[in-house]
Amino acid sequence: MLIVMKHGASEENVAAVVRAVEAMGYEAEPIPGRRRTAIALIGNDGRVDPGRLYALPGVFRVIHISPPYRKASRDWHPDSTVIRLPNGVRLGAREVVVIAGPCAVESEEQIVDTARRVRAAGATVLRGGAFKPRSSPYSFQGLGEEGLRMLAVAGRESGLAVVTEVLDADSVQAVAEHVDILQIGARNMQNYPLLRAAGRADRPVLLKRGMGASVEELLLAAEYVLLEGEGRVILCERGIRSFDPHARNLLDLTAIPTIKELSHLPIIADPSHGTGSRGKVPPLARAAVAAGADGVMVEVHPNPAEAVSDGAQSLTPEQFDTLMSQLRLIARAIGRDLAEPALAAAVAGA
Ligand code: PEP
Ligand code: MN
Repeated sequence: MLIVMKHGASEENVAAVVRAVEAMGYEAEPIPGRRRTAIALIGNDGRVDPGRLYALPGVFRVIHISPPYRKASRDWHPDSTVIRLPNGVRLGAREVVVIAGPCAVESEEQIVDTARRVRAAGATVLRGGAFKPRSSPYSFQGLGEEGLRMLAVAGRESGLAVVTEVLDADSVQAVAEHVDILQIGARNMQNYPLLRAAGRADRPVLLKRGMGASVEELLLAAEYVLLEGEGRVILCERGIRSFDPHARNLLDLTAIPTIKELSHLPIIADPSHGTGSRGKVPPLARAAVAAGADGVMVEVHPNPAEAVSDGAQSLTPEQFDTLMSQLRLIARAIGRDLAEPALAAAVAGA
């Protein structure tokens, strides 16, 4: 970290910064320049609070040399992390993983039917919300525990791995018993007790970017999960708020190569919440794979017109079939492949 002093900073200002850095337990090395002095802080392990330095007289700017997240950073972990799911599917490897399913679990028949259809098309992970974080308290809130049980049945029958959202720290263990991946939603990206609790559960965490969060804030949120024991994280770009109401959110495709550069963690995209309308989901799913995403998460409903949530952005199973054949071609064009359900089933049955 570099602490740059103002032009007019006095020697006493510089000395005070040096004392403050040393009191924090780090080395301080003043670098006098022609017009101003900078002070190198040596040994930053990510715990230095720049706010404390900005509070000192004469400080102009605090510049991070290393990223403020350490465990999530590619600097510290150059090889891409590969997360292996119980059905043999790998996230972050050469294969592109497709996660599909309804926004919410509505009945056992609905989730089992969807699982069968998305698996036939080539998906390898099933999604479905049992606890729904709805913007309005009057909207459908999910089937809760019953929904978890239905999801587990659908996962077992189809051989698909299962992901569902967990809303609070207290329910992490109960949710983890039923599914393979814990999802932390956009609205909860900075719920720090939840991030820590999810990191302690023995499940990978699918962490969605908050709708107003920067990439750095997303990686710092991931750091909370990784700091707990064996925390494993799959990052998800799901669109951010923009000034333009033409779409529900603005799917930030640039975040995909940016995150690949900054972090070793797998990054997937959710073009369903990222666009909000069915017609825009296939083009953005294709673009996300082309941009290097390790996976896509797509909402699919057997009858979107009757979906209790997010019907407008849910694909029909037939639309999903078409999308899958396109994604397979795009993956191959960039030297990848779609993850294979056949391999998933073989491992599930082994
Ligand atoms: C979801 O994936 O079910 C969801 C609620 O998404 P987000 O947290 O991105 O809004
Ligand atoms: Mn949804």
